[in-house]
Formats: sequence, C-alpha cells, structure tokens
Amino acid sequence: MNENKKLRFSREIYPDIYEITLPLPMKNPGPVNVYLFTGKKITLLDTGILQTSGLLKKALRELGLDFSNIEQVIITHGHIDHSGSAKKIVKNSRGKATVATHKEDVMRLEKGEGAFVISYAKFLGLMDVPVKFRFLSVFIIAAFSLLSRKCKVDRKLLDGEIIQMGNYQGTVIDTPGHTRGHICIYLENEKILFSGDHILPHITPNAFVMIDHQSPLPSRLSQKEYFDSIAKVESLNPSIIYPAHGTPIDNFREITDMYRRFFNDRQNLILSILDEGEQSAYQIARKLFPEIRGIMTPLEIFLALSEVYTHLQVLMIDNVVSEYKKKGKLVFKKN
Ligand SMILES: [Zn+2]
Repeated sequence: MNENKKLRFSREIYPDIYEITLPLPMKNPGPVNVYLFTGKKITLLDTGILQTSGLLKKALRELGLDFSNIEQVIITHGHIDHSGSAKKIVKNSRGKATVATHKEDVMRLEKGEGAFVISYAKFLGLMDVPVKFRFLSVFIIAAFSLLSRKCKVDRKLLDGEIIQMGNYQGTVIDTPGHTRGHICIYLENEKILFSGDHILPHITPNAFVMIDHQSPLPSRLSQKEYFDSIAKVESLNPSIIYPAHGTPIDNFREITDMYRRFFNDRQNLILSILDEGEQSAYQIARKLFPEIRGIMTPLEIFLALSEVYTHLQVLMIDNVVSEYKKKGKLVFKKN
C-alpha cells in the first residue's frame, strides 16, 4: 500500500491494485476506469482511448512505473474506450507487453470498427432506415476509430482460464451480451469482480446487436445472452464489483433486478407499439425514442435500432412476434 503518498492520478482500491479513471469525449457512459495490478506480473485491465495515453502514463509514473514495465494488457471487450491505447502501450514497452482478450473480440481489436461498416449499413437498410441516416451513422461509427489504434492480440482467453495479474489470480468469466466476446475478471479468493461494461452502477448496459463482418443479420441473441451472463455473475456472488464506468458496486442484486425490470418495460412498450399494426424496426424505434433529434441523430438511430431489434429477436423466439420481408425491408407484427 502507498499509505504515505497521496496519489493524484489513481486510487489504490485493494493492496497493489489501482483504479485509474480516464476521461472520454462522449457524455455516456461517463469516464472509463482502468485497473493496474502491480507486483509480480504487472498487468493493466483495459486502457482508455488513445488520446488519454498521456494521462495514463502520468498515473503510472506517480507509482514509479512506465509503459515499459507493463507485462500484460487484458481487454474486457473490444470497444475503443477499453482498448484504444493498447497498441501504444505495446509499442512503448518495446514489444514486452502482451495483449489478451476473448477470441470473439479479437477481430474488433485487430481490424477496428471499420471491418463491420458494410454489414452495419446493410442491417440499417433492412431495418428501413432512410438512406441519409444510414450513411451518416456508419460514418460516425467509422470516425470513432480515430480514438483507437488497431492492435494485434497475442493471447485468446477462454472461459474459466486463470491468469496471473499482479499478485493475484484472476479467473476469466465469459459474459457475452454487451459484445460477443465480453469478459469479466473474478478474483475468487478476494471475491472481487471486475465487470467491464457488463454491470454498471448508473446505466443499463447496451446489449448491442451482434452483427459480424459477413452478414447484416445477427445469428446471436444479444439480450438473451446478456441476461444469461447476468445470471452467471450472480451465481459467483462477488462481495464487490469494480465496473469500467462509475463507482464500485456493493448492491449488485438491486442493480440486476433493475436491469430485469427495464428489460420487461421495454418489451411491453415495443408490444404496445406493435398493437398499432405491422411496422419496421425503424418505425418502432422512432416511436420508442421520440426525443431523438439534433446532430447525433444518425448515431442515436443506430443505438435505438440495435436495442429494438435485439428485443424483437427475443419476442420472435418467444413466438409473440414474427417478421417477414416487404419490398426488401423487414416488417414485424404481433402474432
Ligand atoms: Zn465502455
């Protein structure tokens, strides 16, 4: 413990584990927390965006470290706010640092968001999104890649695998939902969970539509996988959760109950919109989120559609809703 020293850029949350909070340009979901494990195998869990690597360096320096001391970078999932600086750290460690993430998010890290844009554009087309929003939203998603650098992954992590992180043993917990390869890290002996974006204290995480680079329609069920992953974490029964955004969580059951209520409310709202008759996902999204307007409209439409479609997937599995093609678009109706 650095008991005598007042730290400006980090906070020791447990002996030899430091939380470093780094700013992000977007308002939601708030600044990103990355975690540094010092001691035996110096490890960084998530990195923040490329533009805050200087701040990260200051935090390390204050602890008497540099990028060259980092032996391992573990990425909870391939979104830019978690992986943007990984490449820079590896470069500055002169190749010493290895990068590890779940195999399902390797492509995101190695090829960037750009690898998905054609599938995204096709998905938005199928969902009946007007052409101008379709291209602008894909453009905005592609622009996010400026906050990150593509990075080679050295180690693909598997569920249940144990990794040395600083002086601790971390277990990889496969928690798909937010992304296809999202992982949490659990320190079993200490009952501490690092939840990435799987559990956040102040906001219900998005179970993003899992479009791959080959097909515009997802084969995977993000919402269902997300709630299965929530149940998995509940069964671990951690005593404290350190999320990638926001403050530590010691009441996670209240939070997961809130997520379930939120899920049911959304499903009911979508069903009440479908009471008006068959509609495209875009029409449903516009009614569900009437407040969307202004400069970020194209991006917000993408997020809204991602949410609507992943809910519709569950309603279709439950046989409450069905879809069919009409003039090249997908239309949904209540059974
Ligand atoms: Zn995040």
